[in-house]
Amino acid sequence: MTAPGSTSPLYATFSRADVAFERGEGAWLIDSRGERWLDFGSGIAVNALGHAHPHLVETLKAQAEKVWHVSNAFRIPDQERLAERLVANTFADRCFFTNSGAEALECAFKTVRRYHWANGHPERFRIITMEGAFHGRTLATIAAGGQEKYLEGFGPKVDGFDQVPFNDIAAVKAAVTAETAGILVEPIQGEGGVRVIPSETLRALRQICDEHGLLLIFDEVQCGYGRSGRFFAYEWSGVTPDVMAVAKGIGGGFPLGACLATEAAAAAMKAGVHGTTYGGNPLAMAVGNAVLDVILADGFLERVRAASLRFKQSLAGVVDRHPDLFEEVRGEGLLLGLKCKRPVAEMNAAFRDQHLLTVAAGDGVVRLLPPLIVSDDEILEAVKRIDAAATALSASSAASGAAAAKSA
Ligand SMILES: *Cc1c(COP(=O)(O)O)cnc(C)c1O
Repeated sequence: MTAPGSTSPLYATFSRADVAFERGEGAWLIDSRGERWLDFGSGIAVNALGHAHPHLVETLKAQAEKVWHVSNAFRIPDQERLAERLVANTFADRCFFTNSGAEALECAFKTVRRYHWANGHPERFRIITMEGAFHGRTLATIAAGGQEKYLEGFGPKVDGFDQVPFNDIAAVKAAVTAETAGILVEPIQGEGGVRVIPSETLRALRQICDEHGLLLIFDEVQCGYGRSGRFFAYEWSGVTPDVMAVAKGIGGGFPLGACLATEAAAAAMKAGVHGTTYGGNPLAMAVGNAVLDVILADGFLERVRAASLRFKQSLAGVVDRHPDLFEEVRGEGLLLGLKCKRPVAEMNAAFRDQHLLTVAAGDGVVRLLPPLIVSDDEILEAVKRIDAAATALSASSAASGAAAAKSA
């Protein structure tokens, strides 16, 4: 295998580590040289049930022998079933299935705009978002995310998104105009650095929406589907949205997303108004139902919460032992972050040296996103590897510090 580089035919958009995985088992990945890696990245919160989960493998194989794809011009029984189950377990009354998180958000934006249009307010199309947000990489979702590094060079920013500082209710209130259609937030920011929006802020956002006739949109692409220790993170606050984008964990590794909405919010999304070729096809829906079988099984989310508690406590110990490297532990459930005092890329690389996979985030944070099926032993093993990485880092900086002092 040639290492990725200037001769690669691939777009150079990803800076890839020079390792390729051949197979996986639960929380472990095995690379092409046979080496084992502890996967606390889960393909960025996607492999909720780990790798090669028997129920998912069996379901995918069985469905593959029946029918992979039919278009949405026909009824798809498993699509109806997954929608019924999502509706039964959330605030929502309606679902639209997509292939990705960004598409789920695109559907959310169109739902919100169309709602106001149908209610006689076509001028209401703007959505308020929060600084540090990440909503995807399409033209509309980079505008919603508002991060300059993702917008640069891609022409005029799609109009209709107004960003306010993180967790600033006064700024949200000041940003509401006669053109505002809704407010969009991630209850727990993932890419932004595992920043939890406090429940009282979510309640205040709900109140502002109700006062002004706006729709509240949650992006639970990363924090949803059991990742926070509840089925959806909004349950921690008791605040329900009108529209919600879901993806990542929902397919357990199969590309799948969904936009969920109340009956009122979705009422104007009539036949022909929106569409997708692949979204909700039989293969995706079979896997989606299988993921849900496991996540909604008795005791599953309780176990995620117990694992989270154990992991958080152990990580607090790591922070105490290495105050030169770590500042704090953040997050809920198994969406945890270590705020680092060194560059995140350096920390991530140090963990990788211990064959522990983690994910970089903003705000100086390394994300720890084990599969939700992670065992207590695997959590202990990860903590051991984090300690080992920290010790190696401290030792190497002490050595280079001594060398610098000597040469001075
Ligand atoms: C990953 C992510 C998205 C985008 O999902 P894609 O499947 O990459 O399009 C949107 N919002 C949040 C919060 C995410 O974490």
